[in-house]
Amino acid sequence: MIISGKELSARLKAVMAEKMPALKEKYGRVPCLAVILVGENPASQSYVRGKIKACQVVGMDSMLVAMPSTVSEKELLDKIEELNRDDSVDGILVQLPLPGQIAESKVIDAISVDKDVDGFHPSNVAKLWLGEPCTLPCTPKGIMKMIDETGIDPSGLRAVVVGRSNIVGKPVAKLLLDRNATVTIAHSRTKDLASVCREADILVVAVGKEHIITADMVKPGAVVIDVGINRTSEGKVTGDVDFEGAEPVAGYISPVPGGVGPMTICMLMDNTIECFKKRLSANGK
Ligand code: NAP
Repeated sequence: MIISGKELSARLKAVMAEKMPALKEKYGRVPCLAVILVGENPASQSYVRGKIKACQVVGMDSMLVAMPSTVSEKELLDKIEELNRDDSVDGILVQLPLPGQIAESKVIDAISVDKDVDGFHPSNVAKLWLGEPCTLPCTPKGIMKMIDETGIDPSGLRAVVVGRSNIVGKPVAKLLLDRNATVTIAHSRTKDLASVCREADILVVAVGKEHIITADMVKPGAVVIDVGINRTSEGKVTGDVDFEGAEPVAGYISPVPGGVGPMTICMLMDNTIECFKKRLSANGK
């Protein structure tokens, strides 16, 4: 069975769109996401376009702040502070990566935790690991929705996450642990990756290397979530899993493209709505 992130995200966005008039009625306006794009990196421009378009589909407001690649760290931090204070903005996203003169960690720290729709702020990260309510990072949150879509309960199952980045591998491992899976995190120093992966009832792969996971590394019937985005020499987008080979072995598998990518954007919409509701409710609205 193929877990289509494209279809699932379209369904979830349609539900969000349906609820928008009620939000407007209750709070007097719809949520607004501010997206800051620094420079002219074509991949970043395309990601930002996708996010703005998703806001339109859901019926939310968006604000695009484009800054030149020569912008200073102070200018960017000042802009974030302005958006932090702007009551009409509910979520702030700074598209990464940033030019070398700007420290990404300073930028992430500067975003108000109440408007941190990426879930990257240290306070949200700490809360995730403490098991407290927080804004979850979009990609791991989307991955969990995809796993839930299979109807399989992770409780008691063996989960293997390949990759240990702060934005995907580590948080998704924590979310699987919270769902009572027995979790192994594999990385570039893992010995015999194939046998580790073969133990997985749930296999999440976030490496960024084309076809690092082959059919022989997949346990028959496993749920396989491919997070990787790679570009082949012919310019085709492909994942970390050899989809053709693994699909007949896996019970459920997500494709690339059309898998985790659209779910990440969908969860960004979800987080913006969550931040909007939390902030306005806290303000007594
Ligand atoms: P990252 O920060 O580069 O982390 C990659 C991880 O893979 C590292 O933990 C690394 O191990 C591990 N790794 C590298 N080579 C390995 C090997 N041979 N065997 C096992 N593990 C290996 O990447 P990321 O930000 O997590 O992203 C991973 C992939 O997901 C990329 O293709 C990225 O484009 C994609 N992505 C997609 C979305 C989406 O929405 N679809 C979102 C985020 C990322 P070490 O820690 O030991 O170096």
